[in-house]
Amino acid sequence: MNGGIPLSQRRGSIAVRVGPYRIGGGAPVLVQSMTNTDTVDVAGTAAQVQALAEAGSELVRLTVNTPEAAAAVPHIRERLDAANCAVPLIGDFHYNGHKLLRDHPACAEALAKYRINPGNVGFREKRDRQFQTMIEVALEYDRPVRIGVNWGSLDQDLLAELMDRNATLKEPLDAQQVMRDALVESALRSAALAEEIGLARDHIVISCKVSQVQDLVAVYTDLAARSDYALHLGLTEAGMGSKGIVASTAALGILLQQGIGDTIRVSLTPAPGGDRTQEVIVAQEILQTMGLRAFTPLVIACPGCGRTTSTVFQELAEKIQSHVRARMPEWREDYVGVEDMQLAVMGCIVNGPGESKHADIGISLPGTGETPAAPVFIDGAKTVTLRGEGIAEAFQVIVEDYVATKYARRS
Ligand code: SF4
Repeated sequence: MNGGIPLSQRRGSIAVRVGPYRIGGGAPVLVQSMTNTDTVDVAGTAAQVQALAEAGSELVRLTVNTPEAAAAVPHIRERLDAANCAVPLIGDFHYNGHKLLRDHPACAEALAKYRINPGNVGFREKRDRQFQTMIEVALEYDRPVRIGVNWGSLDQDLLAELMDRNATLKEPLDAQQVMRDALVESALRSAALAEEIGLARDHIVISCKVSQVQDLVAVYTDLAARSDYALHLGLTEAGMGSKGIVASTAALGILLQQGIGDTIRVSLTPAPGGDRTQEVIVAQEILQTMGLRAFTPLVIACPGCGRTTSTVFQELAEKIQSHVRARMPEWREDYVGVEDMQLAVMGCIVNGPGESKHADIGISLPGTGETPAAPVFIDGAKTVTLRGEGIAEAFQVIVEDYVATKYARRS
């Protein structure tokens, strides 16, 4: 699938290999996530990495901020391997990455990629030396790096340099534009430096994360026009709940539609005690609803209105969505292409039969005042009509039968 974007319009980035995956070079856009456990807590971090991987995260990043965290990384890797979880781990380094990577070779070995923030590598003459050390470790272990610039930790020397230069212009740019330019410049200069040290272009991924949608779109549009490095996309500090989801979707959707972005992360702030895997599900849903990838069958449901005054319809939509998500790990193992299945759960006769016919399997419930009958449509044709109690359970059986007969079994 390419989401309707002609391949010729998709940005050609250089492919970077990370574990079993390719980032860029026309490969499917990958989903990433990040743990929020203390990395020193080996059992807790390994459990969260596994949960993120099971939810569909193809790469998982973790904080490596202290010698204890660096020492924990190989043990986390061992636990994951013992649990048959092969998800590549990415180390997130700030300030002391050069020291941690040098002092903890087992950590450098266990990680599949290193994230370096050029704004947090060190100051002045130390900066280039410490950056060089990290790149040398990457060369030694043949690991790719992500040069990950962030709005909140932008290289202040570089910003001052660009501000000074801007002040000499006949028509100076506004401060916001200079900040955007500084982000892109920081990423590209650091990537050029990494190449000078010897890291190949196919070992470099770039990101420039900001927290506002229009800034992100402007920065990545510029970055994509000026380079062919593989790009990691994400709106940083997107926020909680619907705000974080909407902002991330708006920003990533615009860029992905232009063929910009090779891997994405949705940076949601979980509610206290909330499930970290939500960021993975949202990232998958962005890619799937845009038609770029398929992860799990989509359930189309109407919003309901005054024609559905009971909660039967909402309960059925919820039950079917949960059933599909719960069954997907097994279905994925057993059946080829089941992730492309589309289901429709509709509230009444107005759009119900029509939408249900367009789905692979659809059900149209009786709205208020309609005959209490729910016709089921399979591949566009009406098959049975469900009535009375237990419609949800009967519909689930139909979905199971459909999967078993429609999709080829993996050998
Ligand atoms: S399909 Fe029926 S219940 Fe659903 S939104 Fe449309 S009119 Fe309302």
